[in-house]
Amino acid sequence: MQKKITLRLSPADSMDDERIKHHLASELGININEISGYQLLKKSLDARGRQVWFHLTMNVFINEPLQTDIISPLQLQDVSKAHHSIIVAGAGPAGLFAALRMIELGIKPIILERGKEVRARRRDLAALNKDGVVNPDSNYCFGEGGAGTYSDGKLYTRSTKRGDVQRILNILVHFGADPNILYDAHPHIGTNKLPYIITSITKAIRDSGGEVYFEKKLVDFTIKNEWITEVKTADGDQIETDGLILATGHSARDIYELLYQKKIEILFKPFALGVRIEHPQSLIDTAQYHLTPAAGRVEGVPPASYSLVEQVNGKGVFSFCMCPGGIIAPAATNRGEIVVNGWSPSKRNNPFANSGIVVNVDEKDIQGYKNHGALAGIYFQQSVEQRAYKAGGGKLIAPAQRLVDFTKQVTSASVPLCSYLPGIASVDLKDVLPRFVHDSLLIAFKEFGKKIKGYFTNEAVLVATESRTSSPVRIPRDEKKLHHPQVKNLYPCAEGAGYAGGIVSAAMDGERIANQLASTLHK
Ligand SMILES: Cc1cc2nc3c(=O)[nH]c(=O)nc-3n(C[C@H](O)[C@H](O)[C@H](O)COP(=O)(O)OP(=O)(O)OC[C@H]3O[C@@H](n4cnc5c(N)ncnc54)[C@H](O)[C@@H]3O)c2cc1C
Repeated sequence: MQKKITLRLSPADSMDDERIKHHLASELGININEISGYQLLKKSLDARGRQVWFHLTMNVFINEPLQTDIISPLQLQDVSKAHHSIIVAGAGPAGLFAALRMIELGIKPIILERGKEVRARRRDLAALNKDGVVNPDSNYCFGEGGAGTYSDGKLYTRSTKRGDVQRILNILVHFGADPNILYDAHPHIGTNKLPYIITSITKAIRDSGGEVYFEKKLVDFTIKNEWITEVKTADGDQIETDGLILATGHSARDIYELLYQKKIEILFKPFALGVRIEHPQSLIDTAQYHLTPAAGRVEGVPPASYSLVEQVNGKGVFSFCMCPGGIIAPAATNRGEIVVNGWSPSKRNNPFANSGIVVNVDEKDIQGYKNHGALAGIYFQQSVEQRAYKAGGGKLIAPAQRLVDFTKQVTSASVPLCSYLPGIASVDLKDVLPRFVHDSLLIAFKEFGKKIKGYFTNEAVLVATESRTSSPVRIPRDEKKLHHPQVKNLYPCAEGAGYAGGIVSAAMDGERIANQLASTLHK
């Protein structure tokens, strides 16, 4: 017999298999020996009261053998001689998952990635952090695995398509992710573990007859009668194709320029921009777990996170990509610009908690850029990033201000220790941020201080600028057939086209495009 049951357990009990079985037996009114095992379906943290609890939902096996259904989530075929081949620009989560799904459906993917493979990319990241030098083709956003490889690897998504989300998580486990992502309410992989998973995916694509090329940048394509016939790469190659999946992410500004120049319709898309805030992790733990300052987290309880949102004069201000135990990363893709983002290792064991705090940007906020048409958001974004670079004094040193000083509008006399490796410099962020962003943040931070005890403190530092939250451009596509309205085999995909935000939703959109392609090509 199998029974589904939810238990509320202390952190210590939730980590101990024998104690879990004891709780199950007493809850079910049976002898512990009757329980052959259990399968964890969901694990979530409840920190509302003084005592932290875990809620564990389990499928319990009583007087029958434990079954752990290990079904391979993928049926990869040999596509080396497939009838159709499709070019995928971009080896981020969208491009890789589109490729895997195409292989399942008998289509050969040819991935063109402007950046380097994981190992070579790591050297460019070291140069970024140590010397403040940006390689425009190999950085935190560009390279094998896209922005997902050295990301935080949080796998939460607002998508309600449970089956589709579970499939992506299953595939990630198949390629080496910890199975706990299948039941954790807030799954997270960590920067240290993502590279291995990504390289395993690339290997599987190649082993199945797909092709993956690094340092191969898409720069143009030829259209004949509304159909792309071939693509051109920066090294002079011309490759014929049945179609192009554009999965180039939200930082491929040259791709948006290319579409704009070729008069292929693109649209302005609202996005958000602001700063990244960093607190000591212990301060966030104390507030979120109702601890006394001297007491630390008990074993088994993860570093605390938070999620904040406030409406300021009709404008949304919200936390974005919160990284407990994390590091602030330099995520620029061009020289002379500062972009920050955050990541954390799987253990989330750094002493800082960072999060983007960003303000919605609508078309009416950036009227001064309207001569750039659909690219207005990009030019606005870039101007703030360049101002931040100059304010920091070069070498990716980021302008920064203590939180209370920011709201008092005084330059900080000193800045605290910060995880951002290129370094921070004390600057009045009023001189960096657009007025409407600055003023909205000013009010929102004080409100956030009322929501999390101790949050509003000069121990916290703001680092500018968090500008790549989502794409400032939407590339339109047919709602059903998913191709661009003007080009019948151009498939705008995932985050760069405005249809995803985050690793899981990008992967899901990649799969969706592959499914659609198969139904078109196999007709
Ligand atoms: C530091 C950091 C931390 C993050 N943390 C999280 C997190 O915890 N959870 C989460 O869900 N999301 C996180 N994100 C965001 C997440 O990584 C993205 O949402 C996701 O990777 C988008 O996937 P994508 O495939 O659409 O695009 P991308 O991952 O951006 O991939 C696009 C790829 O296209 C390539 N490309 C661009 N132009 C060209 C061209 N012309 N020719 C060929 N290739 C090209 C790029 O090099 C890149 O590899 C983080 C991002 C960063 C930078």
